Amino acid sequence: MTVVQSDVVIVGAGPAGSSAAHYLAALGVHVVIMDKAIFPRDKICGDGLTPSAVNELSLMGINTDGWARNRGLQVVGGGHDIKMEWPEQRSFPNYGMCRSRVELDNDLLRHAENSGAQVYEGTTATSLITDFRDRVVGVKATRGKGKEAEEIEFHARLVIDAGGVAARLATSAGRAAIENRPMGVAARTYFTSPLADTEWMVSHLELWDGKPGESNLLPGYGWIFPLGNGIVNVGLGSVSSTKKATRLPYKQIFEAWTRNLPEEWGFTPENQQGPLRSAALPMAFNRKPLYEDGLLLTGDAAGLVSPYNGEGIAPALAAGRIIAQTYASASVRSTDHGFDLAMENYPAALKQQLGSYYMMGRAFVALIEHPEVMRLCTKYGLPRKRLMRVVHKLLSDGYERQGGDLTDRTLQLLTKLVPSA
Ligand SMILES: Cc1cc2nc3c(=O)[nH]c(=O)nc-3n(C[C@H](O)[C@H](O)[C@H](O)COP(=O)(O)OP(=O)(O)OC[C@H]3O[C@@H](n4cnc5c(N)ncnc54)[C@H](O)[C@@H]3O)c2cc1C
Repeated sequence: MTVVQSDVVIVGAGPAGSSAAHYLAALGVHVVIMDKAIFPRDKICGDGLTPSAVNELSLMGINTDGWARNRGLQVVGGGHDIKMEWPEQRSFPNYGMCRSRVELDNDLLRHAENSGAQVYEGTTATSLITDFRDRVVGVKATRGKGKEAEEIEFHARLVIDAGGVAARLATSAGRAAIENRPMGVAARTYFTSPLADTEWMVSHLELWDGKPGESNLLPGYGWIFPLGNGIVNVGLGSVSSTKKATRLPYKQIFEAWTRNLPEEWGFTPENQQGPLRSAALPMAFNRKPLYEDGLLLTGDAAGLVSPYNGEGIAPALAAGRIIAQTYASASVRSTDHGFDLAMENYPAALKQQLGSYYMMGRAFVALIEHPEVMRLCTKYGLPRKRLMRVVHKLLSDGYERQGGDLTDRTLQLLTKLVPSA
């Protein structure tokens, strides 16, 4: 058996793991990152990047030249079809992007590697290693398959579970998904489309099983995100205010919805690229504690997905930045107690940034999980321009946390009135 010693070991090389690996390595920390997959690998996702995600990518130093950009959101529902541009702001650019996860996640992992992270692909973490005090001190893993498989023990002062929604290590440490946190389920596929050059991320807030307004309203929302190379990512999702995700016949709903979309999109079986595949979205900090006894959770393993729009990439990237900063001050502590105290800054910083915002998001989900309520909000809300400016920034986490315009200050005030999630 091989033993690998490092300062930090990260399990999972999605956006959460690669961001943490990049920022830690850039600080000179000896960091190991492993993934069971060999990259490039696919991940079921809408591939949508809001301005907040674009900002995080630029902070990491990712070169996004040539990536598909978009100007804003096109929202369809309640008999309305409106376009809302991403505003130019102090903290966010006035454009979003789309990038297939096959490419995005590979770019991020290679970036972390170039920053100095040691990468182990095709390596599956199987269990945590704990010491006599039950403190996490490493991870057991298997690299390769069959007769070639090799057992490796990774020892480190900090172990990070960035293993996505399954959160295998967090679960084994007793950090189960919290009952009353929202859980989304979404499904997506790709189509070639004559409208793939659209400059908008299209959102359908109502799904009908026939002609809009004259047939049955189905629970959920749909999206069409342009990837810029003749391909669009098309999907739909639904959200439940508890961990019992809504069980819907996604395939049938998807077929009914796409059948009734304008023909110009070209959503025919011949144009479909790959099957419709679904996965869960854990929201609003659905696992806790985010740090304890040497084990830290990030990304989907920590339930960082936004309950407003299902966005998980931006918070995962941002968390990596916070992890590195926190670890830098913790690493100089000479006792485990001091280390743990300093590491408490990680949940504290995430709570400050997203706590009240996500708490409001839980109330939002409790409303919109009822399709009739969603329909009324859409019908009467969408034509109100001032309201929609607030909603636009709210849903995309695109508001300034300090200063800004009237919309930003309204949202700051609202979040101040709400306790943290
Ligand atoms: C249908 C759908 C659409 C979505 N659309 C969007 C969108 O448009 N925009 C957006 O921002 N977010 C979207 N999300 C959410 C987004 O995909 C996730 O929030 C994001 O991928 C979280 O990143 P992560 O790094 O935490 O986890 P992941 O990206 O899931 O990465 C986890 C990694 O861990 C690895 N792993 C797991 N277990 C082990 C193990 N035991 N050993 C080794 N490796 C392991 C996996 O192989 C994987 O590579 C969507 C989600 C779904 C399901």
